[in-house]
Amino acid sequence: MSDHYERVKIELQQMKAVESEAAADEQQQLSPASVSSVPADVSFAARRDLTRSSINGRSRSKSRSKADGHERQVNGKQLSDLTPQKLTLDYSQEKGQSRVSNEQNIKGTLRLLKGKTAANGHVESCHRQTDGKCEHHGKEDGSKVAKKKRAVTVDTSKAKTSLEALKTSIRQLKWKEFPMGRRTACDIYWHGVSFHDNENIVSGQVNKFPGMIEMLRKINLSRAVRTMQELFPEEYNFYPRSWILPEEYQLFSTQIRHLKDNDSTLKPTFIVKPDSGSQGDGIYLIRDPADLRVISGSQIKQAVVQEYIQKPLLIDKLKFDIRLYVLVRSLEPLEIYIAKEGLSRFCTEPYQEPSQKNLSHVFMHLTNYSLNVHSGNFVHSDSCSTGSKRTFSSVLYRIASKGVDIKKVWSDIIALVIKTVIALVPELKVYYHADIPPGKPGPTCFQILGFDILLMKNLKPVLLEVNANPSMRIEHEQEVSPGVYEYVPSPVDEEVKVGVIRDTLRLMDPAQRKQHVTSNTGGGSPEEAIVVETGSDEKESLTDSLPTLCLKQVFPKYTKQFNYLRAVERIAGIFLRFLGVKGTMRLGPTGFRTFIRNCKLSNSSFSMASVDILYIDITRRWAGMLPDSREAGMCLQAFIEAFFYLAGRRFKAVPLREQVLLLLEVCEGALEGLSNSEKPRPHRSHPTQSSAPNAFSSPALTRRHHHHLQHQPLQLSAKANTEN
Ligand code: ADP
Repeated sequence: MSDHYERVKIELQQMKAVESEAAADEQQQLSPASVSSVPADVSFAARRDLTRSSINGRSRSKSRSKADGHERQVNGKQLSDLTPQKLTLDYSQEKGQSRVSNEQNIKGTLRLLKGKTAANGHVESCHRQTDGKCEHHGKEDGSKVAKKKRAVTVDTSKAKTSLEALKTSIRQLKWKEFPMGRRTACDIYWHGVSFHDNENIVSGQVNKFPGMIEMLRKINLSRAVRTMQELFPEEYNFYPRSWILPEEYQLFSTQIRHLKDNDSTLKPTFIVKPDSGSQGDGIYLIRDPADLRVISGSQIKQAVVQEYIQKPLLIDKLKFDIRLYVLVRSLEPLEIYIAKEGLSRFCTEPYQEPSQKNLSHVFMHLTNYSLNVHSGNFVHSDSCSTGSKRTFSSVLYRIASKGVDIKKVWSDIIALVIKTVIALVPELKVYYHADIPPGKPGPTCFQILGFDILLMKNLKPVLLEVNANPSMRIEHEQEVSPGVYEYVPSPVDEEVKVGVIRDTLRLMDPAQRKQHVTSNTGGGSPEEAIVVETGSDEKESLTDSLPTLCLKQVFPKYTKQFNYLRAVERIAGIFLRFLGVKGTMRLGPTGFRTFIRNCKLSNSSFSMASVDILYIDITRRWAGMLPDSREAGMCLQAFIEAFFYLAGRRFKAVPLREQVLLLLEVCEGALEGLSNSEKPRPHRSHPTQSSAPNAFSSPALTRRHHHHLQHQPLQLSAKANTEN
């Protein structure tokens, strides 16, 4: 009975959604002005109300305006800070324009609503992709534009805690929201947790990549970075030295004992982080391996133990970290954007270097908002440059005033972000391949990641972790009376997060993407793609009336500087080629043999029997390290290890990086030859195809290998984590 009731309720909701969609369409056709359903200066609180009721929206708007006016009087300045106009003002200042009045801004918004006015007074309507067909309306009278232009549709039914910021962004863009989902396809699906929040999406774009959550768990991130450190130790010294527990418990203990034996003045501290923890949960500091809490009940805990950065940069004597938002717009071609504005989260107890006495002082050592907000010292501030949570730019200004070269800090951060994403891409492609096999219909993906970065006293940025689902909440919990908590608007969060979501949507606008993809499939270089993108009419019309993008493209922009790091991605390209059965992420023994044969890697001194032994050996060891895996076979990490081994066997005298690059050339050359003679290459634009160019220009490196980790002299990265 109750099931039936639930079904009826859902059906009713869907019917209402379809109805209101039709009504909205109709309304849009009738009057171009009606596109603007939100008064230009609606305050945060009012806008929140609006988002909660799509059906009664219109009749409520009057009382909302009143309430809004009232709140403005009560709260004064900070509420006006929350309006879209404030954002416009701020950004136009950034562009070097003078501060303009609200009236002018409203005019600006109207300009957007009416479309892009051409010099001749006509309005040029946009070219938009509709269900696979491109509508081209040419030049028309302004009054007709709204009739033809189809708003981009966004399914927000699974948005969870990002909902408020998302709704605000959609409204600012005049796009169409489907809060309860839609029977027909939407252009964009906004998921709160994972790619799989909605199943069976066959078109459009989803804001999560398959496998991102898994890849960003602490152990997997550490593994991916470590693989890169083996090839490029200097380039990847921004990640603190880490050990994976329980498998490296012994190694960790031995190395620390040696370290202390060699230099008794050394007092390193380590931070232990549970593998799947977040918000500081279960984190603790230790000074001796004996203090590790490896067992919980009868289970051995999966965790990462990491060198603790003892000398962070302090402001007002407090430790802080930086949360930066990074958009991975696509894997193939690789496109990365960084938000120019981020957040800085402050500790609430003055920092002291770790000592046995203060190791357990979480408010001194951990910058997590979720922890510090419960400290009596947490300062909620309506200003973005004071309090326990501030904008990153306010921190940059602050340190710039002390003579710090913030351009260098910023470019180091950009490099850290690009390198980290490059480390994640190989395995992400494997996940992508399994969930959206080439040739099968499926959505494309993009994702906003939250990078947590610590600045050391010497201003070197250090990567702490990457969050697959950074909080996009624009309210914070506040104790309004003893023991009573309420969600109240947080100006700092809104300023930063709405900008990030809105700009992500702008970049994912299907009309823009269509142009982008078309320009990319002609074999042009990634750099050419950018040129086309920035010149598009669509973008111009948006930038006319919205703030300049707060997302800055860093890849492919900096392709030349970083492409040489994409060696592991090329190995993943080979792995994927031999995966064979769609939907799997593991290579079987036959696939591995075929790889060896096709790449001509077997000879009289390396028989196929040795190949089988190599396969079994490495696969078994990795299966032991990934106990919860249900799939049998060789995972990518194991394949990479096999590849390194084969490279070392074949090119003995040179360092590992050279060995790997040489073997890649051998393999890619052999496969290219095969492809040319046998079959057409699969579709170019699928992310599983390795597109990392072969440009390798970096100086040679010193060799390190999984097996050799144990023989490395341990150097902790408080200085630079550099090898040798
Ligand atoms: P969680 O996902 O639980 O927040 P983090 O890796 O972000 O885990 O760590 C929590 C906090 O601990 C960070 O915000 C930072 O303040 C501190 N921290 C983490 N790693 C280090 C480190 N290696 N050195 C110094 N502080 C660290």
